[in-house]
Amino acid sequence: IDQKYIRNFCIIAHIDHGKSTLADRLLEKTATVSVREMKEQLLDDMEVERERGITIKARAVVMKYKHEGKEYEINLIDTPGHVDFQYEVGRSLTCCEGAVLLVDAFQGVEAQTVANAFMAMEHDLEVVPCLSKIDLNHARPLEVAEEIEHSLALDATDICGISGKTGQGVDALLARIIEHVPAPSGDRQATLQAMVFDSHYDKFRGAITYVRVMNGTIKKGDRIRFIRGETNHDVLEVGQFTPRPVARDELAAGQVGYVICNIKSLELVNIGDTITVQGDKGAKPLPGYQEPKRMVFCGLYPSDGQDFEQLRDALKSLRINDPSFTFEPETSDALGFGFRCGFLGLLHMEIVQQRLEQEADIDLVQTAPNVTYQIIDRNGVTVDIHKPQDVPDAGEIETFLQPIVRVSLIQPSDYIGPVMQLCNERRGIHVRTEFLSPTRSMLVYDIPLDAVIYDLHDKLKSSTRGYGTMDYEIRGYEEADLVRMDILVNGKRVDALSIICDRVDADRRGRAVVKKLKAEIDRHMFEVAIQAAIGNRVIARETVKALRKNVTAKCYGGDISRKRKLWAKQKEGKKRMKSIGSVDIPQKAFMAVLETG
Ligand code: GDP
Ligand code: MG
Repeated sequence: IDQKYIRNFCIIAHIDHGKSTLADRLLEKTATVSVREMKEQLLDDMEVERERGITIKARAVVMKYKHEGKEYEINLIDTPGHVDFQYEVGRSLTCCEGAVLLVDAFQGVEAQTVANAFMAMEHDLEVVPCLSKIDLNHARPLEVAEEIEHSLALDATDICGISGKTGQGVDALLARIIEHVPAPSGDRQATLQAMVFDSHYDKFRGAITYVRVMNGTIKKGDRIRFIRGETNHDVLEVGQFTPRPVARDELAAGQVGYVICNIKSLELVNIGDTITVQGDKGAKPLPGYQEPKRMVFCGLYPSDGQDFEQLRDALKSLRINDPSFTFEPETSDALGFGFRCGFLGLLHMEIVQQRLEQEADIDLVQTAPNVTYQIIDRNGVTVDIHKPQDVPDAGEIETFLQPIVRVSLIQPSDYIGPVMQLCNERRGIHVRTEFLSPTRSMLVYDIPLDAVIYDLHDKLKSSTRGYGTMDYEIRGYEEADLVRMDILVNGKRVDALSIICDRVDADRRGRAVVKKLKAEIDRHMFEVAIQAAIGNRVIARETVKALRKNVTAKCYGGDISRKRKLWAKQKEGKKRMKSIGSVDIPQKAFMAVLETG
């Protein structure tokens, strides 16, 4: 197919603005998928994605569409919607010439609308602005068009109105894509250069690599090279997703599809890598490649120490599917043998944990997640700190650094006060305020990442009655006055409960943590002292009183069914319990330290 009949585009939108619904309608209109086959929201096909209603992995579908007597090949590249996967969004955008920007005609411009639109513009994509859900009778198209104009400097007279639900405007949108999005312009005679923008693992065929061919062609039998990965492979199949994978003779410059080689683990397929032919010394990698950045770490321990090897196997097989998380063995005095795992962000962490529990059926104890800090020691050496236990004694630290993110928050202007207060409480520094329309505004703050990831989003929702939205990007590391706070249970330091926090905050947090722990730890036959300390200085203390004899005695009376229930409950509780010294500490306690931030 001649490149002038190819269009590559993506749909960008804030969550719930109708991206998946529009994608389904496009597949239907182009007869890519018949109405009968249409399973709703075909593009989000992973189970976890379905459950959470989000798109984690970028996908690509090829559609055929006739416009003014010519047949076009239109590739829709789906992008992940969550900030944890920003880098993958960027890679997907590099594979497109255009982006359909979808804005809910009732909700209006929100945080990810702005973030995604700017990202598309940075990648020089032709942006086609659209109002979605125009069938809603409370839609406010004129105001939302004005918001788009104000916040993004796009011409509002250009806006398409569509409804993914009724199909209204979808044909006009396809025509608009063909007319406005430029055709790709690679050189088919040049050396192969293909961008790897996604991959997934297939049990039978190994790694399926998603590519956009920039220059040259790729076909079955070619000997290819992943430039960054420095590995060579034979191509067993190339093809396109229709959305089912269909083999093709070749993929040429401008086209999007998949490549299958005999690759047994996704670790060998780096998102953002460039594929070329083996042995071509002149082949250059495409720009923009990055190693995945793990911003959040936590410890994962089997509740039952016997499951350690089983957990290792489960982590290994999960990594074949998702190389963006890392794990390495670690030991904790308190928890025994386990693993320190690194994730792109908090959502990524939850997804991995959920898969582990679903697929491997191991009860896990998870320690409170922390961001990656940096320390410059007295010799001027910078070290990454992935866990509080690694923070050296104060005397060894020259400079303590933490990651800072720039957060954009969009809300009805009535809520500006509470949102500013929320950001100030989280040590935010106000950058600017913008008014998007007479009723909506955007606040921009720089906030430490550790004050953002855990619950800023939830707090924003609750202080704006659900109307506030946010997005963030990593700005870099800044010096901060941080300390490691330890928790002692009956005089014994529980390493897995240490946290890193601001010095000025330490007293307050120390008191809050011990109080919280007191509530989580059951009474024992003896008194349990819980202390928070910085170095040798105890800053807070609570005591869990010993059980009185007659209280235990009660458990042995009463009717048998009640007793059975009690036993069953105790057994269940035990699963996620760790004995430290002779004190039982439940899983909830390990997370409790976070809730005091
Ligand atoms: P995504 O998160 O951007 O993929 O959004 P979805 O496509 O999943 O849509 C979010 C919600 O909006 C779902 O409940 C859809 O049924 C609804 N929705 C999507 N498009 C339309 C539309 O055109 N009209 C109406 N009335 N509802 C829509
Ligand atoms: Mg969706």
